[in-house]
Amino acid sequence: MSDPVGIIGGGLGGLAAACTLAARGHKVVLFEKNEWLGGKAAVHEEAGFRFDMGPTILTVPSVLERIFAEAGERMSDHLDMRRLDPQWRCFFEDGSVLDLDQEVSAMALRLKGYAPGSADGYERFIAMSEKLNEVSRKFFFWRSVEDIGDTLDIKKNTDLDTLRDVLSLRMGSTVARQIRKRVPDPRVAQMLDHFTQYVGSSPYLSPAVLCGIAHMQTDEGVWYPIGGTRAVPEALTALAERLGVEFRTNTDIARIAMRGGRASGIETTRGETVPLSAVVSNMDSVRTYRELLGGSAEARTFDKRWRKREPACSGVVFYLGLDRGYDQLLHHDFVFSRDAEEEFDHIYRKGGLAPDPTCYIAAPSVTEPGVAPPGGEALYILVHTPYLRPHHDWNEMLPRYRKVIFDKLARTAGMRGLEDRIRCERVLTPVDIHNRYRVLDGAIYGLASHGRFNGAFKPGNRSRELPGLYLAGGAAHPGAGMPMVMMSGWIAADSLDGDRRSNSGELRRSA
Ligand SMILES: Cc1cc2nc3c(=O)[nH]c(=O)nc-3n(C[C@H](O)[C@H](O)[C@H](O)COP(=O)(O)OP(=O)(O)OC[C@H]3O[C@@H](n4cnc5c(N)ncnc54)[C@H](O)[C@@H]3O)c2cc1C
Repeated sequence: MSDPVGIIGGGLGGLAAACTLAARGHKVVLFEKNEWLGGKAAVHEEAGFRFDMGPTILTVPSVLERIFAEAGERMSDHLDMRRLDPQWRCFFEDGSVLDLDQEVSAMALRLKGYAPGSADGYERFIAMSEKLNEVSRKFFFWRSVEDIGDTLDIKKNTDLDTLRDVLSLRMGSTVARQIRKRVPDPRVAQMLDHFTQYVGSSPYLSPAVLCGIAHMQTDEGVWYPIGGTRAVPEALTALAERLGVEFRTNTDIARIAMRGGRASGIETTRGETVPLSAVVSNMDSVRTYRELLGGSAEARTFDKRWRKREPACSGVVFYLGLDRGYDQLLHHDFVFSRDAEEEFDHIYRKGGLAPDPTCYIAAPSVTEPGVAPPGGEALYILVHTPYLRPHHDWNEMLPRYRKVIFDKLARTAGMRGLEDRIRCERVLTPVDIHNRYRVLDGAIYGLASHGRFNGAFKPGNRSRELPGLYLAGGAAHPGAGMPMVMMSGWIAADSLDGDRRSNSGELRRSA
């Protein structure tokens, strides 16, 4: 009997990899340094309020469905999913309010009343986004990709269709430019910009292919599982348990062992060694090489290739238990900054706090009243901030920024008297995010997707440096966000499974 496969980290990427591997017959042991599983998809309960601490917007449920299908099960038997439509409510500095409908024609009709010159442009933008999404599905998703050579063999694929696909990527252009070419109204453009916030990157620095995110949301919708997004890692943990995965929580991994040029096991911080047939790391990819393989030739090669890539943005989150909710809020709300360019310039170029930030709000009692005592709200406020720099002192920055944020909510979304409604309050700063989830410089969404040509690429799921090592999570291909990290876990597992089968002479299972 060969050694089990080991997974370092029980975030959504690690859990998805564990389920997929176990469903395909591998013996799996998962090591997680925290006492809970799910990583950033954590929960906080206090005084009758329940808060999802990390992700709140769930899109592209087909990825989760595919993971359940690996085990011959149906997602709908384990998660009570509710579609949210309108998907978000947007509050703008000029006092206007705009809801985002899932149906493209309904949204265009809404825009005819709100910003007539941008209604057609919105439809054209979504049509382009659909095309980009199609190209991504063809060349980029559901397989390990690290650079353009992994997606396209330019010499072999010179047929017209492929060339058309390549041209449609609009290489060299940015998300912000593509939006503004079609949508002249600055408020509607700002709303569309925010799809790149799902991957913690600036629309002014991200490649045009990221416009594809918008269509993922209009196509499959925005969903809320009853029980909160926390229900997703709980359902995956239960699936993994049914499939026989062994969980070892409170187990911090200090090293990946190598033998014969392969990953051969792990060593815990308590000095225990565990021999493994292969390792999937759900830890941040850069920190995996730096810390678990530090000093090795493999780590140096990886570092050389990826050291220019910056972390994605970080953020500050307030969890406020309110005794009275705000009627003007939908489940998901964006309270937009006065100036998109100024905001992104501060966060992504200057490395400072946006003077007038965009605040994302979740008011989940709109869908699930049980998250708060009657009439109350488990309010969640997320503001993106730069990743951690040496001069950031969050003890000093937090009280001042809290005031900026509360003033902004009162002015732009009419949320007056917030202080008076608070019954309990917790906060998560970039420093907390850094320590709890062991990410790169407090980054929420792995590596930033900046770079007009290569921004969409991340370290591939099958390590090029070390055979037997696979990467899953937001700092690996295809990137961050709940659906993408679960896809990442699936790809890491599928690559490992395929390698194992081809090495043992078994036929590779088709994906
Ligand atoms: C505040 C916030 C809001 C967000 N909002 C959304 C949203 O609305 N929609 C959305 O789709 N996404 C959102 N995201 C992003 C999404 O949560 C992440 O992309 C995703 O959950 C990351 O999953 P992961 O598997 O990459 O890693 P993580 O969740 O970071 O899990 C990695 C795990 O590995 C463990 N680990 C690391 N190193 C070791 C080690 N050496 N030994 C043992 N264990 C280790 C960590 O403890 C952690 O549990 C949000 C994230 C945050 C923080």
